[in-house]
Amino acid sequence: MKKRAAVIGGGLGGLAIALRLAIRGWNVTLCERGATLGGKMNLWSSQGFRFDTGPSLITMPWIFDDLFRVAGTRLEDHCELVCLHPLARYIFDDGLQINYSAALPDWLATIRDIEPRDVEGFFRYMRLGARIYELSRITFLRRMPGEKPDRKTLAALRHLPLRHSWGNYHRTVVAHFRSPYFQQLFDRYPTYVGSSPYKIPATFTIIPYLEYAFGGWYVRGGLYRLIECLVELLQRAQVNLINNMEVVSIEHQGKGISGIVLADGIRIPADVVIMNGDPSRVPQLLGEHLSAGLPVQDRSLSGVVILLGISRTLPQFHHHAIYFSRDYHQEFHQLFHEQRFPDDPTVYVNIASRSDRSLVPGGGETLYLMANAPANGGSWDSRMIGEVRRKILERIRKGGFPDIESDIVVSDIWTPGRMASQYLMPGGVIYGTNSHGWKRAFLRPPNVDRFYRGLYYVGGGTHPGGGTPTVLLSAEITSRLIEEHAGS
Ligand SMILES: Cc1cc2nc3c(=O)[nH]c(=O)nc-3n(C[C@H](O)[C@H](O)[C@H](O)COP(=O)(O)OP(=O)(O)OC[C@H]3O[C@@H](n4cnc5c(N)ncnc54)[C@H](O)[C@@H]3O)c2cc1C
Repeated sequence: MKKRAAVIGGGLGGLAIALRLAIRGWNVTLCERGATLGGKMNLWSSQGFRFDTGPSLITMPWIFDDLFRVAGTRLEDHCELVCLHPLARYIFDDGLQINYSAALPDWLATIRDIEPRDVEGFFRYMRLGARIYELSRITFLRRMPGEKPDRKTLAALRHLPLRHSWGNYHRTVVAHFRSPYFQQLFDRYPTYVGSSPYKIPATFTIIPYLEYAFGGWYVRGGLYRLIECLVELLQRAQVNLINNMEVVSIEHQGKGISGIVLADGIRIPADVVIMNGDPSRVPQLLGEHLSAGLPVQDRSLSGVVILLGISRTLPQFHHHAIYFSRDYHQEFHQLFHEQRFPDDPTVYVNIASRSDRSLVPGGGETLYLMANAPANGGSWDSRMIGEVRRKILERIRKGGFPDIESDIVVSDIWTPGRMASQYLMPGGVIYGTNSHGWKRAFLRPPNVDRFYRGLYYVGGGTHPGGGTPTVLLSAEITSRLIEEHAGS
């Protein structure tokens, strides 16, 4: 008889592990409580405007290709990935605007214009990121902490320690760049994992390196195309996909897992159960105790996302732009220490329709405006939403963005409160645990449960962490562990 797996949640990680196991001959059922699959990687469309509601940028695209290859196909046969040039346009509070170009000669010319001594700092900084990447590629990113190291891991660990990589991220940025513009630019990268540059270890220099060395990518038709393609592969692999259905308990006999129970009372027996939702909800699903979820001080950031379909075309704009706040340190103090939406938020503006006219009905643009917000379960009533919307629009207007209020055709807004209830994530947390300090950054919840046999975890709430490529790596690690345990 085929071995049976039940996956709780149809986020990217849940879909990826379902596919990996189905291809290896498992009988897989996946249950998602939402109406659509994809979890945070989702879609909203209205009146011919099509928006991604979650991820808007992909790094390390070969990790997506690895997954498609597991299913015997190639990513490029299903989706068209587009490398973005420039990576982003940065607009600073004093009005300076720079293109962060992936073309090295252009970028070096920009650095020379602003602070020539930072050319050498940029190369040193990227070298540091490259060395950290080479080390983590075969250690942290492919294996769960606590797993017995293999030969490759032991060989890689010889390269430790790297100067600077153990220190504080922001201080490392300052040690490499004199210009406050470049300091603010490179300090933004820890937000890719929902964390503060002032609290995260310098090891995360790997993120700017990965983006610069391997590009920032968009998927034609929107990033949700990746989910649509995965769903096709899952159907082909005969995975039983159930949506609009919450899993209300995980069954066990003693310490051995035996299945899941759905909200309509149906029981699905399983040899292994894989949690793709928030791991801190598992004790409750096991009937052990009610859980308050991840403690507020451990949470990564949430966000506010405003989606606007506008009738006006904006040919002078690029795909990505970042409108920086005046005082970055104060912004993060308000986000993490005061636990409130900042007075002056940094705003990320994504206009995917600049690269892809299939997203709009004829003319117009799709605007995706995002600002970081704390994931603390605070109130998100209409007064608060109005206030936050005003601050976001004020910041981009200050940076020269045109007034588009009268051009809006369709609009939607995602708040931390909405993310919390839509995805069952405490406070609307996007990347699980924050990466502040070594313990939180590198000892995330493990991929296999320490007490229950047959219970596993996948997705941004577990090792190696949030963000689309790392979530896919968690599916690779967890499926390998399941296979090893099933064979032993
Ligand atoms: C606004 C935003 C912007 C982002 N930008 C980027 C970006 O540019 N680049 C990038 O790489 N990443 C980005 N991310 C992060 C990325 O989307 C996530 O890391 C990734 O998609 C999470 O996948 P996951 O596998 O952890 O599942 P999740 O997306 O967290 O999905 C988990 C699913 O489990 C379901 N579930 C939970 N409990 C149950 C239950 N009991 N029964 C049934 N179903 C259940 C939930 O409904 C949910 O659908 C962004 C996220 C957001 C929200």
